[in-house]
Amino acid sequence: MSDCIFCKIVSKEIPSDIVYEDDEILAFNDINPQAPVHILIIPKKHYENINEVDDYGMVSKMFEVGKKITEQKGIEDFRYVINKGEKAGQTVFHLHMHLIAGRVMNWPPG
Ligand code: 5GP
Ligand code: ZN
Repeated sequence: MSDCIFCKIVSKEIPSDIVYEDDEILAFNDINPQAPVHILIIPKKHYENINEVDDYGMVSKMFEVGKKITEQKGIEDFRYVINKGEKAGQTVFHLHMHLIAGRVMNWPPG
């Protein structure tokens, strides 16, 4: 989508600090990290949110990339977060999975 910030990151119109890239998935560092490790794993294809996905194989690929990144970086303890909808904290309406690590995290989330 032309006005989507993450689509612009995918097309490299907006620069990002890329951690992983293949034909379908991009992972890059969050601009406003909430922990020492805060990576966003996104499908290159624009889906507004997790419930708009028409190919759940894509979601498997996002987790597979998360496994690659955490293993490569030696991250043993981490959290994945997918916010869906404004009340849940979604601010960018292009599906993304947060990979957060490097500090002790609280449960339940706020
Ligand atoms: P949400 O709140 O939608 O789950 O997460 C959106 C995330 O995208 C936030 O953590 C925010 O810091 C990050 N973000 C927003 N704009 C940009 C950007 O231009 N570049 C990068 N790297 N991250 C961004
Ligand atoms: Zn998009």
